[in-house]
Amino acid sequence: MIVAVDGPAAAGKGTLACRLAERLGFSYMDTGLLYRAVALAVLRRGVSPRNGEAVVDAAHGVHAAALADPMLRSEVVGQMASQVAVIPAVRAILLSCQRRFASCPPKGGAVMDGRDIGTVVCPHAECKFFVTANLAVRARRRVNELRERGMSAIESQVLAKMHERDQRDQERVIALLRPAEDAFILDTSEMNPDVALSIALTYVAQKVAASI
Ligand code: C5P
Repeated sequence: MIVAVDGPAAAGKGTLACRLAERLGFSYMDTGLLYRAVALAVLRRGVSPRNGEAVVDAAHGVHAAALADPMLRSEVVGQMASQVAVIPAVRAILLSCQRRFASCPPKGGAVMDGRDIGTVVCPHAECKFFVTANLAVRARRRVNELRERGMSAIESQVLAKMHERDQRDQERVIALLRPAEDAFILDTSEMNPDVALSIALTYVAQKVAASI
């Protein structure tokens, strides 16, 4: 079984996807980390995200070990990730890796967290969620997250950058951020993570019962 969890930054999809995987006994893949790993390689090589060839070269050089780098979680890498994510050749490289994982997860099923899982990577996923929340709530959550990690953050700047990234993800010509037609929309603006998990588990159970 494949569970797709898509949505914009800081909507709560990472937390939800992780906890869903744990409760279902499934493997979890944070596909944003793949884009972030390419972005970090691009930043370290000092190449421009507009230089498609150099970015693709950096993407080919990314190995599994790179996914453990704590720098991947920084805002600057997130911004660069959304710039390299508009390049079709980069998406193609990462697509095959995501599909391999989804079709053969180490555990019984896969929970895939991203932007285009339900629409492009796994359009046949049995269960699809689109997790969202309003921009102000998401910016506040990201600020808290950054401060908890000891990083300084100015809310208005985080909000502006998040808005910019949302727009880039929603307007790119390929695999844009949008809910799949058959996705369950979960707005977490006024919902705590436990309630979101409980709603999602109920929906998964309904899907499983309907497929028997
Ligand atoms: O989810 P996360 O914030 O780590 O993603 C970083 C960026 O990677 C996103 O803003 C998006 O541009 C890109 N991404 C994507 N497709 C995915 C996952 C992430 O385009 N499946």
